[in-house]
Amino acid sequence: MDVSYLIDSLNDKQRDAVAAPQQSMLVLAGAGSGKTRVLVHRIAWLMQVEKISPYAIMAVTFTNKAANEMRGRIESLLQTSVNHMWIGTFHGLAHRLLRLHHQDAGLPEGFQILDADDQLRMLKRIIKAMELDDKKWPAKEAMWYINGKKDEGLRPSHIETYNDPVDKVWLQIYKNYQDTCDRGGLVDFAELLLRAHELFLRHPHLLRHYQNRFQHILVDEFQDTNRIQYAWLRILAANPNSNMMIVGDDDQSIYGWRGAKVENLQHFLRDFPEAETIRLEQNYRSTGTILKASNHLIAHNTDRMGKQLWTEAAEGEKIGLYAAFNELDEARFIVGRIKEAFASGTSLAQHAILYRSNAQSRVLEEALISEQIPYKIYGGLRFYERQEIKDALAYLRLINNAQDDAAFERIVNTPARGIGEKSLAQLRSFARQASVPLWHAAKQMLDQGLLKGRAATTVSGFINLVDSIADDISNVPLHRQAEITIKQSGLENMYRAEKGEKAQARLENLGELITACRNFESPDEALSELSAFLSHAALESGENQATKDQDAVQMMTLHTAKGLEFDTVFMTGVEEGMFPSQQSTEESGRMEEERRLCYVGITRAMRKLYISYAESRRLYGRENYHSPSRFIREIPDDCVEEIRLQAKVTKPMSQNSRFSHAKIESAFEETGLYVGQRVEHSKFGEGNVLNYEGSGAQSRVQVAFDDGQTKWLVAAYARLTPLN
Ligand code: ATP
Ligand code: MG
Repeated sequence: MDVSYLIDSLNDKQRDAVAAPQQSMLVLAGAGSGKTRVLVHRIAWLMQVEKISPYAIMAVTFTNKAANEMRGRIESLLQTSVNHMWIGTFHGLAHRLLRLHHQDAGLPEGFQILDADDQLRMLKRIIKAMELDDKKWPAKEAMWYINGKKDEGLRPSHIETYNDPVDKVWLQIYKNYQDTCDRGGLVDFAELLLRAHELFLRHPHLLRHYQNRFQHILVDEFQDTNRIQYAWLRILAANPNSNMMIVGDDDQSIYGWRGAKVENLQHFLRDFPEAETIRLEQNYRSTGTILKASNHLIAHNTDRMGKQLWTEAAEGEKIGLYAAFNELDEARFIVGRIKEAFASGTSLAQHAILYRSNAQSRVLEEALISEQIPYKIYGGLRFYERQEIKDALAYLRLINNAQDDAAFERIVNTPARGIGEKSLAQLRSFARQASVPLWHAAKQMLDQGLLKGRAATTVSGFINLVDSIADDISNVPLHRQAEITIKQSGLENMYRAEKGEKAQARLENLGELITACRNFESPDEALSELSAFLSHAALESGENQATKDQDAVQMMTLHTAKGLEFDTVFMTGVEEGMFPSQQSTEESGRMEEERRLCYVGITRAMRKLYISYAESRRLYGRENYHSPSRFIREIPDDCVEEIRLQAKVTKPMSQNSRFSHAKIESAFEETGLYVGQRVEHSKFGEGNVLNYEGSGAQSRVQVAFDDGQTKWLVAAYARLTPLN
């Protein structure tokens, strides 16, 4: 059999890993060296050459998107479907396991996933019910505490507070929260992993079954596994038949803040002493310049396992550094570059805009929208996280599982039906005392006449409404279920009445939900379509948005970009206090993680990288002045070129062009400025106008300030006051 197609396109080291005998391995290598490629080829090799059944292979990746890509790549290599192979994220695989063995895991059949937003709401309620001051005991902190403990594998009974009064309260919140989840058949993300681990510990026969089954476990992005994930892998692979291949890069460990343990790399070598370590050193992704920049940057970290990376690729273009006046100018610059590249034939999807925090995306989105450039956001503002979608899904969730208190709470008064906080408090306290879900509490209270007057009318109205929707959708296809629910619940009318663009977008999103249901193919025959869809919605959180097949600019946080690559990358907001973040400058150990994040960002670019920073930035409603990030200084000067916007005056222009000469003149005139003019700026003080360039909204003024700095400022925003 000719299997050369599996190894021909690999270098010697990669080939060693792909064609190794059946054994455990660590592939440790820097960004873009082909780790993921090796993992994919290894799976194909195992099936083709070693005749391993796909049933005996499990592959773990970091995002659903990566898992889908991996599946696609294996299928195209082998020309056969691997639909049933266990490829997924830790959460996805744990979820699958818990569904299959829900009884052993102590969960009801229709258990639902509680996403971060629901978790937070629930904690708020619990903290309130405990009559604690939510300023002293914020729900967010409780969430960190609980998830952190779960990631460590700790149940409330494992936690020793040593009578510390503060710890005792957190622990009590954890306990109450967990009781509520358990009563409602609700499972948060951290719980998925912890329960999957406990399932194996408590049911040795199940563990043995899966140990025997999975002869090959392969894990991508291993450096970002947390304690419980590694513990789970380790017991699963604790069998003489098992082989574990992990690939990773300590320089790309960026989830320490969320409990990831880069030490797991060392633990793996300790726990699997026979594992062979293979290092890959050739980078295939990026130009020489980009590689050099990333190598120099990461060399500023001290705590490294140490790796060399080289490339045969040409030096390529320099990294474009753009000093924007503010965030609007930054967005405009980026959109301008994308338009130019698109006009000369590069697809939009080959452009990625990366930012440190989700809140930064809005301005960039608006700039793209105003130029009618399609874009797609990964993570963050996800489709399934949007308010209207969650409202509609909450009706479906409650119908699917009457125990879902989070869903009940979300919609009991949405649309508003006059159920007051007082009635709700009554319901909650009844539910707590009777240990029943809110839905049953409401029914029982009505039956027993415990709700009076208006409360009785409104609550029974709600119960009847949900019951009648449940009846109407009991025998229709999934997309009709969604459609009927959106209408009958009153959500559609509610948003229609709101009017305005936002409400319009919400209606469109609700329409999109029906489309999503129509296109949904249940991966799990055993579940009802609705259950399967609800799990899908909670797990995928919009990684596959509606714009799936459309050419679109890719937008995401730096964290989400891990493992991906793009022709052109814009790394935005590279300012002290933004990136590195303010927090990381204050906490020890965090700066190195922040630098690794920058390394991840730079190494996403194949051909062209732009780095931009803004001198002033309005974020969360505040205006901040930042200096360029230290990371910019850590990149060698000869890798970088500063970008100045070119004036368009010399180009021939049509009569109605936005960039007509007359307009430029007047734009400059409108500002009341001329070369040599004496001006004052609120922050930089007094200076003289040296020059101007650009056009329309992009026109910029160069000012030499008296303190010696010379700056290009966007005329429209600089708010320069003429002094003479
Ligand atoms: P990261 O650390 O960012 O996850 P990685 O080490 O997983 O990166 P890959 O994504 O597997 O790297 O590979 C980077 C790019 O290099 C991909 O486009 C891949 O197809 C290409 N590549 C890898 N190995 C080779 C090779 N031997 N010949 C040609 N191209 C290769
Ligand atoms: Mg990879």
